[in-house]
Parts: sequence; structure tokens; C-alpha cells
Amino acid sequence: MPARILNGAVIRDQIYAELSQEIAALGAAGIRPGLAAVLVGENAASQIYVRSKIAACEQLGLGSWLFRPSAKETTEDLLALIVELNAREDVDGILVQLPLPAHVDTKRVLEAVDPAKDVDGFHPVNLGRLVSGRPGLVACTPAGAMEILRRSGIPIEGANAVVVGRSDIVGKPMALLLMHANATVTICHSKTRDLPEVVRRADIVVAAIGRAAMVEPSWVRPGATVIDVGINRITDAAEAERIFANFPAKLAQFREKGFVLVGDVHPGVAEIAGAITPVPGGIGPLTIAMLMSNTVKAARLRRGRSLGVTAPSAVAAKS
Ligand code: NAP
Repeated sequence: MPARILNGAVIRDQIYAELSQEIAALGAAGIRPGLAAVLVGENAASQIYVRSKIAACEQLGLGSWLFRPSAKETTEDLLALIVELNAREDVDGILVQLPLPAHVDTKRVLEAVDPAKDVDGFHPVNLGRLVSGRPGLVACTPAGAMEILRRSGIPIEGANAVVVGRSDIVGKPMALLLMHANATVTICHSKTRDLPEVVRRADIVVAAIGRAAMVEPSWVRPGATVIDVGINRITDAAEAERIFANFPAKLAQFREKGFVLVGDVHPGVAEIAGAITPVPGGIGPLTIAMLMSNTVKAARLRRGRSLGVTAPSAVAAKS
């Protein structure tokens, strides 16, 4: 039986409806949460991502500012910009779009962001809070994956969860969030022995690998829940034909547009899993939704407390 599709756009809309109430409450107290995005250079994919983040701010009525330093700016120049944004009262969240140019010290720039404004959840202070289970700003993609699981009624407590990928921004925080939700978590990576066998033990599989269609149908236990974090753009005809051999609509899309998107999970897994996030339309919308949620939360925590503004929404109440 085909898997239940966990539609990220529907869950994003639920979260936006809840956030709108909180934004209205903050607005009544004279606070308009605002996000400053720093986009360095001309990376095409980064431009698209930042544009959709700014569009989400506009949709929700949040303030937004886009800073466009050139790719020639030095680490020191970027640090000076971060210091300026840290000091601004109207800026609640600072988003430094990655990757930064190779000559820039990315870690130094990210660590310069005030942890109270670190809406990407990348600062070591926020990572440390996550490790110790204390409230903080959590990385958006794993936080979004948890929202999908919870709001879709997928049982987490006691489940065997396998996270494939151990990056600081997805795999590690994902594993910690699942562990705090009482799953039994296994973290896999490029040196894991017999990866298919490990994945087959999972009730919940999270694929955050960056390799197109790597998780095969034979790796997945029938009925398991699969969260596909990967977004890979396929432009090679032979690769598209191999991955989408049984998916004529996707092949037609490839022939028409010259590319097609696929996750880190093979599309055939949807025939085996109990529930699965689609690509596109699964985790992607949630990543932006959680950025908005973190920006509102940062505004409430930094500016709202003194005015008695508390968290009305389910998203905010959990955080
Ligand atoms: P990353 O930093 O490149 O990390 C990839 C992880 O996968 C690493 O831990 C790596 O292991 C592991 N890995 C690579 N090849 C493997 C293999 N053959 N077998 C087992 N593990 C392997 O990537 P990331 O930033 O976490 O992102 C992962 C994916 O999620 C990418 O496709 C990215 O585009 C996507 N993503 C999507 C969103 C969204 O909004 N939807 C947001 C962020 C990322 P080692 O540690 O051993 O090298």
C-alpha cells in the first residue's frame, strides 16, 4: 500500500495560523518581530532561499531587511555587520545565509551572532542548550521535522529512530530532538557499517545525507515513517531515467524543464513506508516555517517578557 504523504505545506499553514495570533499579540504590545538576512555574494541557490525567507516574513507581517555584502568582503567586514545587527533593537533574528565565500571564517561569523538573535540555531550556546534539554533556539530543519512527526501523530516515544547524517545543522540536532522525545536513536554516517541493515531496524528514518535517492526501498521496514531532508537537483538524463524509471510524470517533468528534484530517499520507498515526506513539499516548507517561528520566539523572549507577552501558540508553548 502506498505510504501516507506527510504534506509539509499543510503543516506549515497550521503553524502560520498559530504564529499569526502570536504576532498580533506582540503587535498589540508595540512589537513587530523582524529578521535581518545577510546574503554574501551571488550564489544563485542562496538567492532563491533568502528570497523565500523574506517573502515568508512579508506574508506574516514580520519586519525584514536584506543585507547584500559583496563576495569580496572580509571576515572582519562581516563581523562588523553582525555587531551592528546585534545592537539593533528592531532586529530580533539574524540569518547568515550559508555557504559563505571560501576566504571567510564561517565559524567566527556564526559565533559572533548574539545567541538571543540566532534564529538558525547554529550558535554553540544554542547547541549546548539543546544538548542539555534547556529552552533555546533550535535549528530550523530538524525542528521542522519534529513538527511534522508530532502533528502527523507519528509515535516517537520508544520508537527506534535512525538518523542518516551527522551534520551540525541537521543530523546532530535531529538526533538530539528525537532522543529528548524519548526515541531510541542511532546516528549513521559515511563510516557506518552495513547501513541498509541499520536503517531496516528503524520505525522512523531521517535521511540527511546529500546523496540523491540513496535510501533504497529494500532498506526500509514496511510501515516505517521516512523523513526525507535531502534536496538534490538532477540535471543528468541517465540519472533521471535510473531514479525515476517507474515514475513517468517525473520523467516528463525532467524532459520539460531539464531538471528534476529528488530527496536522499529513492521515490520507490513511498511504496514500502507507512508515511513519508515528499520532495519537494515535505521538509522544505517546514524549514522556513520554523525560521519564522524562531524569529517570533526571539522577539517574545528578548522584548516581550517585560511587556507581559506570553506564548499563545502550540509551537511557541513547546519551545
Ligand atoms: P552535510 O553537511 O553534507 O552532511 C551529510 C552527512 O551525510 C554527513 O554526516 C555524512 O557523513 C553523511 N553521509 C554522506 N555520504 C554518506 C554515505 N554514503 N553513507 C552514510 N552517510 C553519508 O549535509 P547537511 O547539511 O546535513 O544536509 C543533508 C541534506 O539535507 C542535503 O541534501 C541538503 O541539501 C539537505 N537540506 C535540506 C534542507 C531543507 O530545508 N529541506 C535544509 C538543510 C539541508 P560524514 O559525517 O561521515 O561525512
